[in-house]
Amino acid sequence: MTELTKTLELKLVEPNAHKRRKLRETREAYQHALQDAFDAECTSQTEANDVVVTYDLSGYAKNALKKYVPQLTTTYNAAELHDDHPVRFTNEGLRIDHKPENAIEWCVKIPHHEDYHLWMPAQPNPDQRDWLEALNAGDAEMGESQLFERDGTWYLHVTATRDVEERSKVSSEERTPIGVDIGEISLVTVCHRDDHGSPTGPELWADEGKTVRQLRKTYFTAKRRLQTRGSERIVESFGDDLWNQIDDVFHRVTREVMEYAESVKSPVLVLEDLTYIRESMDYGDFMNRRLHGWGFAKLHAQIRYKAVEKGITVETVNPRNTSKECHACGEVGYRPRQATFKCTNDACWMGEYQADVNGAINIADRYLSGESHSREHTDCNDSAEDWGRLTAPQDTQADATQQETLGTYAS
Ligand SMILES: [Zn+2]
Repeated sequence: MTELTKTLELKLVEPNAHKRRKLRETREAYQHALQDAFDAECTSQTEANDVVVTYDLSGYAKNALKKYVPQLTTTYNAAELHDDHPVRFTNEGLRIDHKPENAIEWCVKIPHHEDYHLWMPAQPNPDQRDWLEALNAGDAEMGESQLFERDGTWYLHVTATRDVEERSKVSSEERTPIGVDIGEISLVTVCHRDDHGSPTGPELWADEGKTVRQLRKTYFTAKRRLQTRGSERIVESFGDDLWNQIDDVFHRVTREVMEYAESVKSPVLVLEDLTYIRESMDYGDFMNRRLHGWGFAKLHAQIRYKAVEKGITVETVNPRNTSKECHACGEVGYRPRQATFKCTNDACWMGEYQADVNGAINIADRYLSGESHSREHTDCNDSAEDWGRLTAPQDTQADATQQETLGTYAS
């Protein structure tokens, strides 16, 4: 077992004037308390407590200060304070909530005063979604968080830790690629090739796909009905319940995908690269697109983090035409029915094939054809670069040490 720690980056989405004022109040009170405790040269938690206790801050910020100030004065011997310290909160202070039905899916609870906190929508770094899913599922542990402002935008950095298995040291040629196709009809489809190259062990989670579609439909029907009656609160609690049921289905399916992978010798789970999918989704209206995108991103992230937890390698590939090409001859075919792929090459033995399984084999084959890339390389999209440039204010060595991470998917 290895412990991975990562700093998760979230951007608070357009807080209104009231919330901005509250955030600034928290920051000011925190800076003053920090300066006071530092000037008083507090070297223990008790000494720091005596200083910070009078400030109008949440207990989480005070407790973070009690730990931080003695570190500054004793361990790091800081001579003076930088004037732009992030506000720190201890791990119990922050809550993260996932509301898939909202345009901004994630929400964070930020402590303000003793009994007062702010719930705010937050946009995570898209490449860290697997970590948020792990936190949300209780499979990662939250550590300290830091709140700060950069050029008028507020950010929250959250430390998260989880235990992962060591990955086996098998070369990529010796691995067995398992194609993982995430879809609307069959929620997930997996397949791999045996030692002779024949597709084997296809598994489809089609009933689960149906269940999820029905739960979504129930939600939107009820939402429309209840909204005309002005029952927003009922919609919300009803929605929470349905989304939790969907989440349960997702967790069960992703657990079963891991079992599948563990039954295969030296497995590597091959997924489609999400950054391409986002561009090529051609679903009808915005809501459908977003919902599909939501389910897709969530399953994708759950598979990624559960695989890392179990020491199973994950790779992503360019999904271009994975559902349109024949896995036997490579020719572009078509779907006479949703579940059927038909090859149009007369010389090809295949004819018709289960469409999702055909897609899964194509995905698996891209790993071997050299089209796969490890997560490190797929992280190079625009949004990731934006996030990559963003670092929390660093003042002392204490920050540098705390923010050190082991890396996530580095092989
Ligand atoms: Zn063919």
